[in-house]
Amino acid sequence: MSRDASRPRSTFTGWRRAALAAALLLAGGAALALLRPFDASGPGWPVSPALPEPVVAPPADLPAAMVPPARLPPRHLPARIHRVVEVARGDTLVTVLQRVGVGRAEAHEVATRLVRGPFDPRVLRPGQALELELEPVREGVRLAGLSIAVDFARELRLVRDGDDYALEQVELPVVRRPQLATGTVEDSLFLAATAQGVPAALVMELVRLLSWDVDFQRDLQPGDRFVILYEEEEQPDRGDRRPGGILYAALGLSGQTLAFYRFEHADGRVDYYDPQGRSLRKSLLRTPVDGARISSRFGLRHHPILGYTKMHKGIDFAAPTGTPVYAAGDGVVEFAGRNGSYGNYVRIRHNGEYKTAYAHLSRFAKGIRRGVRVRQGQVIGYVGSTGRSTGPHLHYEILVGDRQVNPLSVRQPSSEKLAGAELERFRRTVAAIDALGERLARSSLVASRE
Ligand SMILES: [Zn+2]
Repeated sequence: MSRDASRPRSTFTGWRRAALAAALLLAGGAALALLRPFDASGPGWPVSPALPEPVVAPPADLPAAMVPPARLPPRHLPARIHRVVEVARGDTLVTVLQRVGVGRAEAHEVATRLVRGPFDPRVLRPGQALELELEPVREGVRLAGLSIAVDFARELRLVRDGDDYALEQVELPVVRRPQLATGTVEDSLFLAATAQGVPAALVMELVRLLSWDVDFQRDLQPGDRFVILYEEEEQPDRGDRRPGGILYAALGLSGQTLAFYRFEHADGRVDYYDPQGRSLRKSLLRTPVDGARISSRFGLRHHPILGYTKMHKGIDFAAPTGTPVYAAGDGVVEFAGRNGSYGNYVRIRHNGEYKTAYAHLSRFAKGIRRGVRVRQGQVIGYVGSTGRSTGPHLHYEILVGDRQVNPLSVRQPSSEKLAGAELERFRRTVAAIDALGERLARSSLVASRE
């Protein structure tokens, strides 16, 4: 157990208790669907006009059919044709434009314009939709406008301006909807939380955030309760949804509650703090791999391959080949390559004192090589069985100086404690998040009585 005695013992109170009561009253995740939607879209985002229904896989002969016979005078031409085209495998911008009838020269000109600007050609993915405005001309059609989704909430728009084109990057509105999920762990937190509708990516983030404080294999027991208040983001124009961030989470571990709140600093940096304002981001993660079980601890053991008693200078986590391995802390890659009996091996230097090492990897994550800076939680490689190994596992070491120490017993000071004006702002954030949680819990209680 790593929790120190100074952490205040608390129990679920107020809205957290109400949320848990609601969870008990309601079967499954139906309650979440009944929660009142909450619109907290960001400040001053332009609201773009509603887009028409996308046309998926349009018939290839449509452009020609829509072009009137050349003998008609121009004033009889239809003004504009709006098309949504789905990108097929192997498509380039040029082939997409030519398929809808844009001439070869113009298609090349448009593509060149975009690539020279802020457009990354790799964002064109199969299945992606391109919106096109086409103008019939005597020879066929020409492009009047084009818009491409760059990412979840940004769009690149190109608009014809005489014989030239104007390019602009447009921020799309994002609607954030808070969701409250509560439940009881039976097999694992992952299964219990995803069963309540919490996106898998957020549960993994939660596990990462708590991995210094919680040994998920030993500390978390069946019957332990959880509350997760998180946001879901929606881009209303396209109807796309994605998980937002965790606003608050609490885990009841045999009578003790671990809780934390999201807090955005004045400089925009986001981090998580316990109710007293102490950072959750400790120096190093204790478990740098998700869903793994410790298969061998630090200390003397009978070596399975060498056949004699030997000091095991790390912790082994059994996990399937290919399971992502995370950097245990921010730092610089000191070594990434083949390293004798360690097999594929990464070592990260975190500060003057601590290093961590990861052995037997099946492969390295893209871009991981000596001298590269990594962030805590970043994927650096994948579990494997290279080197002297009997099966897929991660061998994980924490080094102080150049000596291996027991990762389970090394205790580092909590890296940050909010103070002064930041602590005041944090308290207001806590009050706002509590009020939101209370409202959501109440509305689910009301819904359960109706
Ligand atoms: Zn080992």
